[in-house]
Amino acid sequence: MAEKIGIIGAGMAGITAARKLTDAGHKITVFEKSGGTGGRLSTRRTDYGNFDHGAQYITARSAPFRAMMTGLSNAGAVALWEPVGKTSDNEWHVGTPGMSGLVKPLLIGFEVKKRTRIVDITRKDDEIVCTDEDGNADRFDRVIVATPSPQAYTLLSPVDPVFGVLNTIVYMPCWTSMFAFSEPIETLPDHYRGAHTESLSWLARNSSKPQSIGIETLCAQAGAQWSKDNLEMDKAQALAAMKDALETMADQTLKPIYAEAHRWRYALVDKPFGTAYLASHDQRLFAIGDGMLGGRVEAAFESARQLCDHLRREIS
Ligand SMILES: Cc1cc2nc3c(=O)[nH]c(=O)nc-3n(C[C@H](O)[C@H](O)[C@H](O)COP(=O)(O)OP(=O)(O)OC[C@H]3O[C@@H](n4cnc5c(N)ncnc54)[C@H](O)[C@@H]3O)c2cc1C
Repeated sequence: MAEKIGIIGAGMAGITAARKLTDAGHKITVFEKSGGTGGRLSTRRTDYGNFDHGAQYITARSAPFRAMMTGLSNAGAVALWEPVGKTSDNEWHVGTPGMSGLVKPLLIGFEVKKRTRIVDITRKDDEIVCTDEDGNADRFDRVIVATPSPQAYTLLSPVDPVFGVLNTIVYMPCWTSMFAFSEPIETLPDHYRGAHTESLSWLARNSSKPQSIGIETLCAQAGAQWSKDNLEMDKAQALAAMKDALETMADQTLKPIYAEAHRWRYALVDKPFGTAYLASHDQRLFAIGDGMLGGRVEAAFESARQLCDHLRREIS
């Protein structure tokens, strides 16, 4: 029987669930608080090129996720990234153009209400009501919350105590910086991975990714512990600290033509739940996302995939 299902969050988990449940014949509405889709599969578009300032690349280990990557690659939304100095044997998949482009072929046949933050979920009669911050209410047979777990906890734990355990899931923050330069910075590598205590723990030459427009662009991430210790730091100060670290690595003074910082409060999962999804006793409310299985795009996909398999059996 076709049902009306609401999904909160348009990241990999929410979009995967929307795609699979639409294909199964259900009527899906996705609510997304930001103006775009992809969640932490995120691309900042500027006059100086695109910056993947969230997830950097994707590895696909399971057969279902590899099949998804193949489909997206055939649709022109995924390519392989081969940075100079790559030592891993795993394929590094990236979205084209940019990481946020990766989910675009999946957005067919269901509604995505962007710039719509859900602030309240309640049970009314036999339905679940989602209310946004402007007071608009939509009614559904079932609702899936596909946000980082602390945000899911806020929405779901007042409705059903089973979701109280969501607050045991731990995320670490990440300060990220984006730089563009008029000349290549030859002394910096295409990518670098370092210690999580430092203000520079990951570096990617964005312009070495497929479909770059040729301007030298870099994304640098501070380590998780450094980001946590400096979570409330002023944005300009955080940017200055990350630029200092980059100059030390480059062994020269850097004069970017564009520089910006972004703070991800919930970036990478430090302590996942360990089960793919969480369900209310009446099987009408669900929590999915990377907090359930681990801080990777594939884990967010797998969480949604397993819930959809469960719903296929549940809804008959
Ligand atoms: C800096 C950084 C680097 C990373 N690097 C990698 C990497 O290299 N490889 C990798 O595999 N993973 C990486 N990750 C992790 C990866 O991005 C995530 O694991 C994955 O994208 C999570 O997907 P998700 O759907 O669970 O959540 P999200 O992508 O966070 O999606 C949740 C969505 O819910 C929306 N939302 C939240 N609350 C509400 C609300 N109340 N109403 C409506 N909408 C709401 C949010 O705006 C968001 O769009 C990285 C993450 C960060 C931040």
